[in-house]
Amino acid sequence: MHTQTHHLTSPATGTQRTLHSLHFGQAGHGQKIYIQASLHADELPGMLVAHHLRGLLTTLEDEGQLLGEVVLVPIANPIGLDQTVMFTQLGRFELASGENFNRHYPDFATAIVDTVAPLLTQDAGHNREVIRAAMREWLSQQPTVTELASLRNTLMRLACDADVVLDLHCDFEAAMHVYVETPYLEQVQPLAQTLGARAVLWAQSDSPTLCFDEALSGVWWRLRQRLHNHPIPLACMASTIELRGQTDVNHVQAHADAQAIVDFLIHRQVIVGTTSLPVAQCEATPLAGSQTLYAPHAGVISYHAEPGQLLTVGDVVADIVCPATALVTPVLAEVDGVLYARHIVRWACSGMDIGKIAGATAFKTGPLLSA
Ligand SMILES: [Zn+2]
Repeated sequence: MHTQTHHLTSPATGTQRTLHSLHFGQAGHGQKIYIQASLHADELPGMLVAHHLRGLLTTLEDEGQLLGEVVLVPIANPIGLDQTVMFTQLGRFELASGENFNRHYPDFATAIVDTVAPLLTQDAGHNREVIRAAMREWLSQQPTVTELASLRNTLMRLACDADVVLDLHCDFEAAMHVYVETPYLEQVQPLAQTLGARAVLWAQSDSPTLCFDEALSGVWWRLRQRLHNHPIPLACMASTIELRGQTDVNHVQAHADAQAIVDFLIHRQVIVGTTSLPVAQCEATPLAGSQTLYAPHAGVISYHAEPGQLLTVGDVVADIVCPATALVTPVLAEVDGVLYARHIVRWACSGMDIGKIAGATAFKTGPLLSA
């Protein structure tokens, strides 16, 4: 293993942050796996999983068991990590711009389609390398004037030519769940099984503000749509893994999650060995079928349902209690499915999102993720 240090654009005189990437195996040999932790910097379970992964991968590399390359970024967002305001860490949005650290990644297909179109052949492997080279070249030419732009560009350059990208996040309070783009459902299934995911949420976004994983998996199916006379593989299975909730940070779970990722890599034949996949804990469901539960008015949230609980239509998920008026309003499940996430605070503003249920039938249109 060797470590690379990346210097981000200095936002102010006398200040410069760095990003560290850990490189296992040999670049250019076998599949490339990219794993990053805590792009939302206040979502810490991924950092502890990365710590355990580092130990496991070091041993595997020393024993000659690693057949590919693994790039691990154990702290993906040093900017957000440093945003402590009045003793509270704010890691989801950059304070300087108000932007979500996990939005505004490039639409590579639009950026490189004209470059790659004349270079493609009937050889899918050749086309994969042409597209990856074009992504690297395009990224190298982008301005990185702000610190946030340089962070996004650095992460993208490390990840853009990977066969598998795992973006380790968590929700407020949650059961293990994963997000993936629809064309990659088959590729993510073994990962969902090793992790014991309670929800696998699929979507195919046409949003202009792409998440990190969508930018990397999306380029392939988007180019397929535009250049359909040439074979273009689905060459980057990128998934966001929600490692339960923000306070689910302990060695036992983190080690088990790291081992689950190793088992997935064994299944993908990136690591020597055999593994039998555990039984799936859920059927994949459309993100467009996920019910977001809202508080109808302000009040104290008293939950009846726990993360991971299976609900049916009409079940009470929470009561919203206004002590001033004695108004108590139940918030009900409107779909059957697992309560895969709920809020961490217990005071609801009127209209606040207080939970999510993975329903099996799509009913939403338009943007499916929050800003
Ligand atoms: Zn997140």
